[in-house]
Amino acid sequence: MEFSIARRQMVERQIKGRGITDPRVIDAMLKVPRHLFVEEALQSQAYGDYALPIGEKQTISQPFIVAYMTEALRLKGGEKLLDVGTGSGYQAAVLGQLASRVYSVERIVSLARRARRVLDSIGSSNINIKVTDGTFGWEDQAPFDGILVAAGAPSVPEEYLKQLAIGAHLVIPVGTRGAQKLMRVTRVGAERFEEEELLDCRFVPLLGQHGWKNEDR
Ligand code: SAH
Repeated sequence: MEFSIARRQMVERQIKGRGITDPRVIDAMLKVPRHLFVEEALQSQAYGDYALPIGEKQTISQPFIVAYMTEALRLKGGEKLLDVGTGSGYQAAVLGQLASRVYSVERIVSLARRARRVLDSIGSSNINIKVTDGTFGWEDQAPFDGILVAAGAPSVPEEYLKQLAIGAHLVIPVGTRGAQKLMRVTRVGAERFEEEELLDCRFVPLLGQHGWKNEDR
């Protein structure tokens, strides 16, 4: 099947069909060529309703989760965003369609390099990638008008709260290594945060100083 047809079908069934309504998010999911973010042998599965391996024991999230987390940021356009866990770069590309600038952090250099190449090849020019422990956020570029974390944390890292603009949302999976709740934290005032539980999910661990330590269980 042609990739563009598979992509349209993915959007109809998995995105619109499951309750994503923000037209800008739907449009971004229609535009970004997801198959280019996985290795060639997996391209025919790129529009399936599941996560896929991207090497280094990491995964590209299921399309619905990408759309859901993106919608949960409530973007209007013009934002500056932090994306934690670049991985394949797919989530960053979707965010790049909706916001002005995306700052994306990844701890594994080979993934960051590959993501950079793919993003350049499709002309996503508003995405900056840095190889670093993303549990520190990206202080030089803060505050952010939205923060999306694509790896599961044991608790909400303090740095993300500090780097969130007032009125902005942080979307992050929090829980054990095996199962998390997707949380939305909104900075409603300088020192005031509101927390909502969105859904059950399962992400790879956020490994780092303010995340899971390698030896933690
Ligand atoms: N958003 C990605 C999904 C990546 S999976 C995509 O669209 O493909 C989660 C990613 O988070 C992995 O690549 C993993 O290496 C990365 N990660 C885990 N802990 C991290 C940390 N402390 N800092 C930065 N990246 C981290």
